[in-house]
Amino acid sequence: TRIPTDAKVVLVTGASSGIGEATARHLAEQGHHVVLAARRRDRLAQVVGDLTEAGHSAEHEELDVTDRGNVQDVVSRLVARHGRIDVLVNNAGVMPLSPVAALRLDEWDRMIDVNLRGVLHGVAAVLPAMRERRCGHIVNVASTAAHRVDPTAAVYCATKFAVRAFSEGLRQENTDLRVPVISPGFTRSELADRGGDPQVQGAVRAATEQIGLPASAIAEAIGYAIGQAPGIDVNEIVVRPTAQN
Ligand code: NDP
Repeated sequence: TRIPTDAKVVLVTGASSGIGEATARHLAEQGHHVVLAARRRDRLAQVVGDLTEAGHSAEHEELDVTDRGNVQDVVSRLVARHGRIDVLVNNAGVMPLSPVAALRLDEWDRMIDVNLRGVLHGVAAVLPAMRERRCGHIVNVASTAAHRVDPTAAVYCATKFAVRAFSEGLRQENTDLRVPVISPGFTRSELADRGGDPQVQGAVRAATEQIGLPASAIAEAIGYAIGQAPGIDVNEIVVRPTAQN
């Protein structure tokens, strides 16, 4: 498929569910070529099937963001295929919440590996080509947990504060690039379905069911950030339900 020059080539990590899936759908509907990446191939293939059937431009790549080589390979393949990646959306994330004293160290490691190292791997893979072309968007999905800390979320918040800090440094050093940080509040997705303290995760699920935003609200914020004219960098967007304090 030929990609029109005014369409962006967009790589979305964690596109097999929730915010990533909604973002991929939204950006494809806006006419961009979207590459959906995550570990669950079947889910990706299903979304790509929907999109291409509707006449949009999309493909998928199996990707584990914790695997540096895997991230580099996927990015190299896409650059070879399309000549460029205009937008990387670092969205993949996990949130197994628990009190620090529970010492669930494997889950701490997992959050650092996916939420923080995963972002660094994505940036490292796309940065040389974007610097060479002197343009590109690196969208990092943080959280309201990147702005405030709550009990049971110490490590999760640490990873999200780190993503914001890193994004700011990346932006300052690369004035040709745009580095929007998108920070969602409670949003409907599968985020609380895996790991963590069952009681804590149950409470998050209940709160999300009650007040959570549709993932499309976050997708639209990302669409706004990357839709700006050259020279305009939307640094940061926080989107939360009105009922969230
Ligand atoms: P989901 O669980 O629905 O989506 C998470 C995505 O990340 C999935 O597509 C999953 O795909 C992917 N993922 C997880 N581990 C890896 C990995 N190692 N490699 C590649 N992909 C991976 O949750 P959300 O949509 O809510 O989460 C998206 C982002 O939004 C996360 O960064 C999260 O922290 C952030 N966020 C979410 C909020 C919410 O309330 N929902 C609030 C604030 C921020 P697969 O398992 O197929 O690999």
